[in-house]
Amino acid sequence: MIASVQEKTTSSSPSVISEEEALQILKGEVPLLPIVAKASEERFRHFGNRVRIHILDNIKNGYCPEDCGYCAQRKGGESGIQEYSLKSPEEIWEDAKKAKENGAYRFCMVTSGRGPTDKAVDKLAETISKINGELGMKVCLSAGILDAKKARALKDAGLDRYNHNLNTSEAKYNEICSTHTFQDRLTTLKAAKEAEIGLCSGIIVGMGEELKDIVQVAFELKRLGVISIPVNFFIPIKGHAIQKSSLTPEFCIRVLSVFRLVNPDSEIRVGAGREGHLGSLQSMALYVSNSLFAEGYLNVKGSEMEQTMNLIRDCNMVPEFTEGIPEGWEDYESKFLYDEKNFPELYKHKK
Ligand code: SF4
Repeated sequence: MIASVQEKTTSSSPSVISEEEALQILKGEVPLLPIVAKASEERFRHFGNRVRIHILDNIKNGYCPEDCGYCAQRKGGESGIQEYSLKSPEEIWEDAKKAKENGAYRFCMVTSGRGPTDKAVDKLAETISKINGELGMKVCLSAGILDAKKARALKDAGLDRYNHNLNTSEAKYNEICSTHTFQDRLTTLKAAKEAEIGLCSGIIVGMGEELKDIVQVAFELKRLGVISIPVNFFIPIKGHAIQKSSLTPEFCIRVLSVFRLVNPDSEIRVGAGREGHLGSLQSMALYVSNSLFAEGYLNVKGSEMEQTMNLIRDCNMVPEFTEGIPEGWEDYESKFLYDEKNFPELYKHKK
């Protein structure tokens, strides 16, 4: 087993493109492959040929008073999803064990709702410390709006990553949600950061936003020092208020490349909509992003673990487990690691 990379809690490498250049890339004013090559250099510089597989656990579904237009769990959504209250620590524990056995690098617990009550925070804290302590597994939590006290309680329980996506730009936010604001999202990220929890925050592309909205989110996440960025591609389903999404596989690759070039040392995750929107360009996505989900999304099916492992293998990359690289994958690791000895030009910036 080859040792896993020590994770940073905040990004530090400067963006390698400007807002203007990011816009040109999204407008298609520059050829695709040179952009992918440039983004790929940053990917290999910071993450080698490793891929982090995240598994989501939907630990509370529905019953939400919020009206996020892209969500099947929103109030009044009539999506027909099976609603359930917060799972018990025992149920979540079993899910985490299964995710670990399945090869997950990080276990991502997601709850519906505006934000957790104090009672829910206590329950989640108990679960986090058990999974961390006994499974040695990296845990992420996405539970809505947090204040400083709740963030600190989760940190003390061992939480090292909190997900709270910006989803779109400030200018566009009230078109996708009216029950909370973009500022509410920033306040939650600030509370998590002040509790020294690593930030996971991303975007949903394809909800009718303009190109400048996508660029603004990329640079806002850079400003916040977000270390993990899920880039989701919107697929409208029953119950969503937003019912349109027109994305091409090439445009999705351009978006992922922009997020890599603006946030070079952040974990860029090709998120929901990977299968539906990227199609046969999924492999190209792994040359600019270094992370993905397996075993599906909250209320939408996705690739099984085996399919995901085959995609990684086809790209001559290696899955990264919590403890490092699994047996039998060493060859893939050593053959393609863009290390300083073999690729000195990639490390000129270190001099
Ligand atoms: S995204 Fe979260 S807060 Fe918004 S409607 Fe869905 S479950 Fe509720």
